[in-house]
Amino acid sequence: MSDRSPASSSQMEPLLEIDDLHVGFRTAEGLVRAVDGVSLRVERGETLCIVGESGCGKSALAMSIPHLLPHPAATFDAKRMSLDGIDLLHLQGRPLREVRGKRIGVIFQEPMTSLSPLHRIGDQISEAILLHSGATRSQARDKALDWLGKVGMPDPRRVLDAWPHELSGGMQQRVMVAMALVHDPDLVIADEPTTALDVATQSQILALLRRLVKRDSGLLLITHDMGVVREMATRVAVMYAGQIVETAPASLFFAEQRHPYSRALLASLPSAATRGKRLPVIPGSVPSPLDWPTGCRFRNRCAQARPECVEPPPLHAEAERTWRCHQH
Ligand code: SF4
Repeated sequence: MSDRSPASSSQMEPLLEIDDLHVGFRTAEGLVRAVDGVSLRVERGETLCIVGESGCGKSALAMSIPHLLPHPAATFDAKRMSLDGIDLLHLQGRPLREVRGKRIGVIFQEPMTSLSPLHRIGDQISEAILLHSGATRSQARDKALDWLGKVGMPDPRRVLDAWPHELSGGMQQRVMVAMALVHDPDLVIADEPTTALDVATQSQILALLRRLVKRDSGLLLITHDMGVVREMATRVAVMYAGQIVETAPASLFFAEQRHPYSRALLASLPSAATRGKRLPVIPGSVPSPLDWPTGCRFRNRCAQARPECVEPPPLHAEAERTWRCHQH
């Protein structure tokens, strides 16, 4: 469980607010939907984990926020998308770059594809600093060195002059964490930041995020791994086939899941009770957006499916949780 806890924000505006987001990709078959009517909020001090299998639209959702979807293939629209009251939907040009670098930090799954192979590590971090501050080159280099220390880089002075290919995957991801956090952003988006790493390095990177993301910033963490959710989340949103099917504070979610997909995801997580036993797997796979079933999109894989599930399931809301299912 995260040591970051939400600010007492019941009367405050949410840090991030998204209402009815749709994301699609133009393909030879026409517009393929990836995100279909998603609404969510991230409060200051909160770690919201969006969890679901690959192909559920999590990354498309996350990358639409800082406008990092591939252009012109991707298209997105929403009734509202705002960060601390700033309209993100219609931002472009310099104001967009300012918000993206200073107020939103992004950490990607594959650091090697995000770091330029042609520039030394110190130059890349310095460049991120110079873009959004009045620092001199020498001040930026000092700050880059400082951040390499903060992210626990062994021998930071040597790494400052290293090329990306000289670093391990874990070290590269530490550089990405430094570059994302160097301006103390209000919102950090981490898209599967540990998926490409071994287990030991994974927990080091998660610990870094817990320690270095400002206490009053929001962390939006995308993962397919319920173990990461258990370790990090203050709130959970479960995504399936382009929609959010359940949201709940982490403590409520891990005590009881209301949506059959959430229960199935959690059942596949190893625990003391399942040691030595074969873990259940969810039958079938996430349907292609070209082939989303009518009604409940999970119904072809759901052990509790019933005749009415061919109709779109209602959205239930109770206390701080919501879920979308014909079961109440
Ligand atoms: S609506 Fe029906 S098919 Fe969908 S998750 Fe609920 S019970 Fe299962």
